[in-house]
Amino acid sequence: MIQIDLTGQVAVVTGGSSGIGFATARLFLQAGAAVAICGRDSERLDAAQASLATEFPQAQLLAARCDVLDAEQVGGFAAQVMQRFGRVDMLVNNAGQGRVSTFADTSDEAWRDELELKYFSIIRPTRAFLPMLKDAPSPAIVCVNSLLALQPEPHMVATSSARAGVLSLVKSLATELAPQRIRVNSILIGIVESGQWKRRYQNYLNENAASPERQSWEQWSGELARKKNVPLARFGLPEEAAQALFYLATTLSSYTTGSHIDVSGGFARHV
Ligand code: NDP
Repeated sequence: MIQIDLTGQVAVVTGGSSGIGFATARLFLQAGAAVAICGRDSERLDAAQASLATEFPQAQLLAARCDVLDAEQVGGFAAQVMQRFGRVDMLVNNAGQGRVSTFADTSDEAWRDELELKYFSIIRPTRAFLPMLKDAPSPAIVCVNSLLALQPEPHMVATSSARAGVLSLVKSLATELAPQRIRVNSILIGIVESGQWKRRYQNYLNENAASPERQSWEQWSGELARKKNVPLARFGLPEEAAQALFYLATTLSSYTTGSHIDVSGGFARHV
């Protein structure tokens, strides 16, 4: 196995209090990096911090409350990271969630909210951490994007459309920042088992509270993956998305920029 030592380096993971972001923070800590995570919900953030501190007692870890859509909060988060660690080498733009809606039931406001989330969750942290990344020896930005960027789903019309735009944004950023040696890449995920899916499963349990045939998580998620014709017939694990993010954030991928990795269990229909 290739070992990579990130001692002395600093990774920032937005939305690091749950799911893919949390799994990514764990990988960076395992490799010896100092890690800063952020999220909006204090309880979730505290729980994540406590869990990481227990697993990595020596860890240099900062957990800050920050909504990535609020420029002031993002600026404050960047200032805290700078004050605590003095540098940033890797930025993972992960914070966010999807929106289930068709064209018929998406209002103007919902369209604006979704476009704002998908674009500004990248724009604001990137802008805030750019001065620190410019000073790093091997800086990288990685964005969590979705396969919906290339393979839209009608029941997620606004998310799919915004995700396609993010693909373009990542490419443009990669080109603009290449002279400063900052690599910018993304991962395209299919269905990954994480907070948002656990919440959907909980809704299913609540709606079927009286049914003796309620499915277990494995049955429910496996059936969904098969219905969607995911060749690997299961959801991805947050750790599997995190490993691709880790690869793109570190010098393991030193000659890769403006690119993306598919982490969809074969769900992509295109070549
Ligand atoms: P989770 O719900 O498990 O994690 C989302 C994380 O983002 C949480 O830490 C959440 O904390 C944080 N977050 C959400 N909105 C904001 C915000 N405005 N500011 C700061 N933090 C925020 O979901 P996933 O791990 O699945 O999601 C990670 C990314 O992957 C998201 O961008 C999602 O859209 C994307 N994705 C996931 C898919 C999947 O199947 N899981 C499929 C396609 C894309 P808090 O709520 O406390 O702020």
